[in-house]
Amino acid sequence: MAIRKIRVIGDPVLGKQCKPVVKMTENLKVLIEDMFDTMYEAKGVGLAAPQVGILRQICVVDVMDEDPIVLINPEVIESDGEQTDDEGCLSVPGKVAQVTRPNHVVVKSLDMDMNPVTYEGEGLKARAMLHEMDHLQGVLYGERANEPYRDLEEEDWEEEE
Ligand code: ZN
Repeated sequence: MAIRKIRVIGDPVLGKQCKPVVKMTENLKVLIEDMFDTMYEAKGVGLAAPQVGILRQICVVDVMDEDPIVLINPEVIESDGEQTDDEGCLSVPGKVAQVTRPNHVVVKSLDMDMNPVTYEGEGLKARAMLHEMDHLQGVLYGERANEPYRDLEEEDWEEEE
């Protein structure tokens, strides 16, 4: 169990394409555990491997109302609806921006034993999964936002609490 350093905007690793996982290894299991620890410590709802400097297609998501999930080589297989809301990112500290995304997605992934699994998400869970999956393509949410990054104001904090 360890907290890893979160890379922030400007770090070239955040703009790179991640490679698929071909085999689950002890190192990757440790990485995934560390990613959960790092996400919880930073009070995030998701974290992708490139955010801790590892260019592999792995993300963790925990929107707190359901079991935490690990996405390995994830792919969106269905999406519908639309939602527009403020989004933030642990790699873009102190900022938010409004992003429009599908409201519902079905994601194909592998589980920790490299068996196929699908996850369904609505609202925040769909948003979090899509946001983290963007990181695997080297995309930060600002590139999809409807506006430039804004400073996280006190009123935004109130909304989050
Ligand atoms: Zn992010």
